[in-house]
Amino acid sequence: MASSFHAFLVNDLFGDPALYVSLPWERRALLFDLGDINSLSAGRLLKITDVFVSHAHVDHFVGFDYLLRVLLGRPKGLRMYGPPGFIEHVEGKLRGYTWNLVEGYTLVIEVHEVHPDRMFKARFACPEGFARRNDPTPYPCNGVIVDEPQFRVRTSLLDHRIPSLGFALEETAHLNVDKDRLDNLGLPVGPWLMDLKRAIRAGAPGEQPIRVVWSEQGRRRERTLALQDLRRDVVRIRPGQKLAYVTDVVHSPENTDKITRLARGADIFYCEAAYPERDCERAAARFHLTAGQAGRLAAEAQVRRLSVFHFSPKYRDCPGELLDEAMAAFGRRLST
Ligand SMILES: [Zn+2]
Ligand SMILES: [Zn+2]
Repeated sequence: MASSFHAFLVNDLFGDPALYVSLPWERRALLFDLGDINSLSAGRLLKITDVFVSHAHVDHFVGFDYLLRVLLGRPKGLRMYGPPGFIEHVEGKLRGYTWNLVEGYTLVIEVHEVHPDRMFKARFACPEGFARRNDPTPYPCNGVIVDEPQFRVRTSLLDHRIPSLGFALEETAHLNVDKDRLDNLGLPVGPWLMDLKRAIRAGAPGEQPIRVVWSEQGRRRERTLALQDLRRDVVRIRPGQKLAYVTDVVHSPENTDKITRLARGADIFYCEAAYPERDCERAAARFHLTAGQAGRLAAEAQVRRLSVFHFSPKYRDCPGELLDEAMAAFGRRLST
């Protein structure tokens, strides 16, 4: 009964960047980068509430149209986060279509643009033909762009000749339910455990009553227990899980410093490895990392696992070379 993130790269090592992260404690998902996402089912796309885009190069943003197509007509809100200029990029995409005959649709897209010390926000609502509505004043940003009771997302502006955002997704606490203790107390497994975990994460008062309703041999049973008793008896609280995501960055001292701080201690670090070390000059000229550089960053940030991706198609016949190089530089087990 773990409550950690479930994350996977949508495409293969050579495909467009997109990392899908579902939050198992609610029917909800996050998406990091918005490359080709055609292989994701409508069911998965409909769970997405927040999209984090590193930068608007086409391989990181081409999936916007498909996501919009699936979400349109659903009573949904979507939040998007991206680097300077991002609101204009979203506006440009939306301006590319004709928006009549959509009066009954309620989709609202809220776009947050990350600058070094502040954020700008704009809203695009379907009933208004997705006309841009700017929030009049920017709001301060200390690097934390989402802060919810269950998790937070931190970002860092990295150098890819243009700004490229790196992200860290941090679970505030990792909650496990002890099934044996539950059995001993005669309590069932069920959706009430989600409510319990949500209340603990939100810092609800200990005396808050938690109602458990279930049926046993056709009879309705009900018990109410105090949150503090359940927290003590059936829930094991450990430090939360952490994922880091970095792509499209040049190898430089400044980026290295920012990336190692962002990814420090991550359980899994998703990092681009576009080129092999033998083509490091090409990597530098295109403001990308080599596999060896990705491995060294992972080692320096002391992450537990490394997952490399975004290989240049030029190396389609030798992915093993990039994987081996990253693994050797990381010095530990490589996760793909
Ligand atoms: Zn790219
Ligand atoms: Zn790029």
